[in-house]
Amino acid sequence: MMTDQIIYGPRDQWLAIRRGLGGACPACGEGRMFHGLLKVNDHCPSCGEALHHHRADDFPAYLNIVLVGHIVVPLVLAVEMAFAPAYWVHAVIWLPLLLILAFSLMHPIKGAVVAWQWAMRMHGFDPNGSIDDPHPLPVTPTTKCAN
Ligand SMILES: [Zn+2]
Repeated sequence: MMTDQIIYGPRDQWLAIRRGLGGACPACGEGRMFHGLLKVNDHCPSCGEALHHHRADDFPAYLNIVLVGHIVVPLVLAVEMAFAPAYWVHAVIWLPLLLILAFSLMHPIKGAVVAWQWAMRMHGFDPNGSIDDPHPLPVTPTTKCAN
């Protein structure tokens, strides 16, 4: 059985990712993507674009670990090789840096991941592929039932 599908045009991935890095809606760039610490708004408060379809899951956390690790570990090794400071000096320097980097990158990374999913029409962002959408849009009846 054939179903009618609408072919949608491509979305600008880099524009969406830039907007997501700034925590803005990937569609309009005006509304905020997040509320609370890392909760993504169900819909953009500015343009109403549905954002609840994202499935970022743990991917932003993995990216955060990889990025922060690739920044801090070479610095730790370079300082150790050059100065060989005491362990408490390492702890005083690197633990705050780790926390600052990890927390400051959480929003940009998650925003970019959600925006990229939106741009690629992944998961529920594809209007033709939302059969398994756990958050379907409410259905409004268009005809009255005859009893
Ligand atoms: Zn928007």
